[in-house]
Amino acid sequence: MKLDVLQALRNPGTEYAFSAEQELAPQDVSGTEVTFDVVKLAGKLVAGEDGSVTVEGKLSTVAHAPCANCLAPAISTVEGDFRETFIHGGDPEDDESFAYNGGALDFDKLTLFYVLLNLPMRFLCEGGCEGLGQYAGADVTIGSEEDITTTLCQDELNVQRPFAALQQLLAEKSDNAEN
Ligand SMILES: [Zn+2]
Repeated sequence: MKLDVLQALRNPGTEYAFSAEQELAPQDVSGTEVTFDVVKLAGKLVAGEDGSVTVEGKLSTVAHAPCANCLAPAISTVEGDFRETFIHGGDPEDDESFAYNGGALDFDKLTLFYVLLNLPMRFLCEGGCEGLGQYAGADVTIGSEEDITTTLCQDELNVQRPFAALQQLLAEKSDNAEN
């Protein structure tokens, strides 16, 4: 999506409201394909005397990916604030900054950056996971039927495992130190 900023450039310091919709291609996030609904952006933009254009606002979309536990389709609302300054005549391919040429801003990179920034760590399906069996042997206390889905969907076991391993490593180290 390209956003025309010619009017803003003619009136530096004046704020202009904008809203836009941006398509986002499927992304590979840590080996999982995540797809997106159209991303909606809204906010304001203001040009500087040097030809730079600062945009700020909010974006939102819905991301789709397999549930981390049972691989059923899962969705997550993605929302975030953005604020960036596009430098006129800069290199649009530069990863460190935002740049534009001519009289329009290209929102592809900004949209991708801020959507990924606000993406959840993991996707979890609603209404219970079918992959319950994989933790059948785990040492976990489950209070009630109602808690099962919540407990397993949060997958605290997986989260704690690396720390348990680290703790063991530290314990071994201190043992060695005593010898
Ligand atoms: Zn699930």
